[in-house]
Amino acid sequence: MSRIAIIGAGITGVTTAYALARRGFNVTVYERHRYAAMETSFANGGQLSVSNAEVWNHTATVLKGLRWMLTRDAPLLLNPSPSWHKYSWMGEFLRQIPNYRVNTIETVRLALAAREHLFSIAEREDIQFDLERRGILHIYAHRKDYDAAARVNVLLREGGLDRYAVGANEIGLIEPALQGQFYGGFFTPSDSTGDIHKFTRGLADACVRRGVEFRYDTSIDSIKQGGDGHFTIDATNAGARNVDVFQQIVVCAGVGSRAFGAMLGDRVNVYPVKGYSITVCLDDEQSRRAAPWVSLLDDKAKIVTSRLGVDRFRVAGTAEINGFSRDIRADRVTPLVEWTRRLFPEVSTARVIPWAGLRPMLPRMLPRVGRGKRPGVFYNTGHGHLGWTLSAATAESLAQAIET
Ligand SMILES: Cc1cc2nc3c(=O)[nH]c(=O)nc-3n(C[C@H](O)[C@H](O)[C@H](O)COP(=O)(O)OP(=O)(O)OC[C@H]3O[C@@H](n4cnc5c(N)ncnc54)[C@H](O)[C@@H]3O)c2cc1C
Repeated sequence: MSRIAIIGAGITGVTTAYALARRGFNVTVYERHRYAAMETSFANGGQLSVSNAEVWNHTATVLKGLRWMLTRDAPLLLNPSPSWHKYSWMGEFLRQIPNYRVNTIETVRLALAAREHLFSIAEREDIQFDLERRGILHIYAHRKDYDAAARVNVLLREGGLDRYAVGANEIGLIEPALQGQFYGGFFTPSDSTGDIHKFTRGLADACVRRGVEFRYDTSIDSIKQGGDGHFTIDATNAGARNVDVFQQIVVCAGVGSRAFGAMLGDRVNVYPVKGYSITVCLDDEQSRRAAPWVSLLDDKAKIVTSRLGVDRFRVAGTAEINGFSRDIRADRVTPLVEWTRRLFPEVSTARVIPWAGLRPMLPRMLPRVGRGKRPGVFYNTGHGHLGWTLSAATAESLAQAIET
């Protein structure tokens, strides 16, 4: 049987390995870290959110982004220094504005399909990942923002999502822990949250039980295709060279996918859109009581939250177009802590764990799933701000593409 190499053990690589292993393929996963899910799939916002399917390629969003450039603690930061990668990506992003509607509806459909796959995988493999099926509540303090969100809601519903408007009173009933004045919101009862890292690690274990080989601590340096069509992967493990041959390759390398695309003859213009999270440790009884269980999305602040079990509260947000740096900057973390203090004043922020990750984003904000130009090359990458939400469906589509 032909051998398939998957590059990357983030959520996309591991779900792909699982979908292929279930179909009986011989799969090897390469990962430069010691464990699965150590890069962007480590501490994200936790939302399995069909309700966050709106793509960002909209004139109003771009104009808002330009205004934010002038504000220091704004949710978006753009480093204007020259870079072909950055500006080519931004040019393509703007050219996708006419496709805003179609791409948003397509994302909703994909996310709905992913939901069913993910729940059935977790059940089949008995993966515990702090899943909370309590819905996601989008909140708005001002009427203008709420009215804009109502227009997006029409698209989300057109894609098949059951999501409804709620008034200030209902917001308080849905999540009593939430403090502050709100004009209104939208609630999606069928959305959920969970710990992406726990899920990915649990699924990697399930893959091993199904015969998948993981080569951790192994960084791929180059891939070459021979005259017979086979791929030679040249990698380094603990300083030693590791060379192996495969018949098919699947690129799931997150923000590294652009470089692999170039090696394999494809243009995969993934850009690293940086984001931050804090994990608030709910160490005392009062904090545990005062932190919300229903997941929130504050659209104006661009902040999402997840309750991860009894004693962790995740708050994530911000988007930076600023290259590959994963440095954690205090001035980007502070707004997340302040937001938590403002909306949940009785939650202690004495112990918060900050994290930064790079969203692998394609200009049209839908992932690339399927064949490359050369025979034997496949991609399942570029899931941007929704990799956790979408990956269970894209892995299935990719496995089907390889099977046929
Ligand atoms: C702050 C933040 C909040 C987010 N919140 C949400 C959310 O609430 N809901 C949601 O759905 N999504 C969210 N996302 C997006 C989601 O986390 C990502 O889309 C997803 O994790 C990307 O998974 P991936 O497998 O593509 O990439 P990764 O998880 O980065 O995996 C790629 C892997 O490839 C490996 N790799 C790369 N190059 C090599 C090489 N040369 N050799 C060997 N291995 C290599 C890397 O080490 C890495 O482990 C958020 C992202 C951020 C940053």
